[in-house]
Amino acid sequence: MKVPFLDLKSTYSEIHQELDQEISKVINSGRYIGGEIVEKFEENFSNFVESSYCVGLANGLDAIEISLKALGISKNDEVIVPCHTFIATWLAVSNCGATPVPVRPNKDNCLIDVNEIEKAITKNTRAIIPVHLYGQPANLEEILKIADNYNLFVIEDAAQAHGAMYQSKKIGSHGDIVAWSFYPGKNLGAFGDAGAITTNNLDLANKIKILGNYGSKEKYVHNYIGSNSRLDPVQAAVLNVKLKYLDEWNARRVKKAKRYLEGLQNLSLNLPSKFDLKNSVWHIFPIRLNRRDELSKFLKDENIETLVHYPLPPYLQDAYKNDFRGFNCPITEKITSQLLSLPIGPHLDDEEADFVIEKIRRFFS
Ligand SMILES: *Cc1c(COP(=O)(O)O)cnc(C)c1O
Repeated sequence: MKVPFLDLKSTYSEIHQELDQEISKVINSGRYIGGEIVEKFEENFSNFVESSYCVGLANGLDAIEISLKALGISKNDEVIVPCHTFIATWLAVSNCGATPVPVRPNKDNCLIDVNEIEKAITKNTRAIIPVHLYGQPANLEEILKIADNYNLFVIEDAAQAHGAMYQSKKIGSHGDIVAWSFYPGKNLGAFGDAGAITTNNLDLANKIKILGNYGSKEKYVHNYIGSNSRLDPVQAAVLNVKLKYLDEWNARRVKKAKRYLEGLQNLSLNLPSKFDLKNSVWHIFPIRLNRRDELSKFLKDENIETLVHYPLPPYLQDAYKNDFRGFNCPITEKITSQLLSLPIGPHLDDEEADFVIEKIRRFFS
């Protein structure tokens, strides 16, 4: 048996007729930028995440970056980010000219440690970007409380959390702005790059839309130094179809995560059992162990593909090495050295999950 990390093609196979039809409609419409299909997706997605507004954008990095710009964040401003995240969270801040200020993760769930946030706040701090990492909601109640006390904006990086819940409400409008990526491998993925923001604030939604469209509301009238970051109608058509299946596909991920959690008990590894099991959508199923590289190789030889999310934290990347010389975060580095992401996705079947479990048990026996 061969178990890929994520089988994107099978998602297409399941609903290809519907997808082909909707893509074909866009092609036949003769309208290839903006228009009805993009607006329809914005409406569908804001309904899905229970927010008032959605603005389609070109990708997830832009969604965070344009959100920061819409809030007026720029040079000399500081933005609190997790030490442990995909680098996009940091790059969005740097691309605005502001400074990312890293906060260490909680060792149990790898999310930003809310007890460490206040220590990182200075007179220049303007915003916090919690990341709903691996599909689990960050501790928004505490984060929003801190933001309120210090008058900071909250931009949620929800690139891994489509459909996740927090306190009985979908992730999508707890903070000032929520940034989404529809990169193909995400829980809701397009057939290329795509992104969006959701918010309950009409002024911010309007400003973000303008910023992503050359800073222009009316053609050839430019109010801001904007960029070109629009959601492509072909991608919007794909997302409109796939959104209908998201709850079901997430439910399959949850079932598979439970199967792993049960099947992998009592081994010398750390399971994500302290994740919020009720609200997570399991974008990633990470286990942690000291013999990570050995296990990964063992599984590879058994045709099981695993990945590491992420092998090197942003502050140790060449991109940030100079700015963060002398900075270290032992918890991040420990987590990073132990993480291993097992195959998970809507199309991983029970037999495949059991095969992964059996091989991991074999590794330890
Ligand atoms: C994927 C991802 C992004 C960036 O999304 P793109 O659409 O690839 O630009 C940002 N943050 C996190 C946590 C992600 O996983």
